[in-house]
Amino acid sequence: MPTAEERFWAKVHRQPEGCWRWTGAKNQGYGAFHATPNRTIPAHRYAYELLRGPIPPGLTIDHLCRVRDCVNPDHMEPVSRGENVLRGESLPAQNKRRDCCKNGHLLTGTNVKIEISHDRTSRRCLVCRRARDRERNGRKAKRRSEAKRLSRQKATTGTKGG
Ligand SMILES: [Zn+2]
Ligand SMILES: [Zn+2]
Repeated sequence: MPTAEERFWAKVHRQPEGCWRWTGAKNQGYGAFHATPNRTIPAHRYAYELLRGPIPPGLTIDHLCRVRDCVNPDHMEPVSRGENVLRGESLPAQNKRRDCCKNGHLLTGTNVKIEISHDRTSRRCLVCRRARDRERNGRKAKRRSEAKRLSRQKATTGTKGG
């Protein structure tokens, strides 16, 4: 008989972007784990308590990645219920401020990389990062083609036509 923990991890699919997606049963989008035959608990809460310890009473788990079936505790933050409501989908303006980068990309799912350093969690926009990388590569490519053009020019200097 596998333990509850083994059954739990068998249903988790770790994605390269960082989210650990729950592949088992769901309830309102959140993973639902049958911890015992007569007890079902939200999968993300189970993961959090398993890896981080008990969730303080009165606190609820906020998904920083906004992927409801994600059970990666690095993507979770215990917050008071009121705070979670403020952060939730009920107030689009507040939601926007928190769930978008400064360029307005949604910080959810595969767009967001959650980084933890010195107990602080930050959400980095991967859309911006990809754009920056593209720009950098573009500049490099431009420099390369410019250099090629110059060397071609040099090679043809002194010869007529070309
Ligand atoms: Zn996640
Ligand atoms: Zn962005």
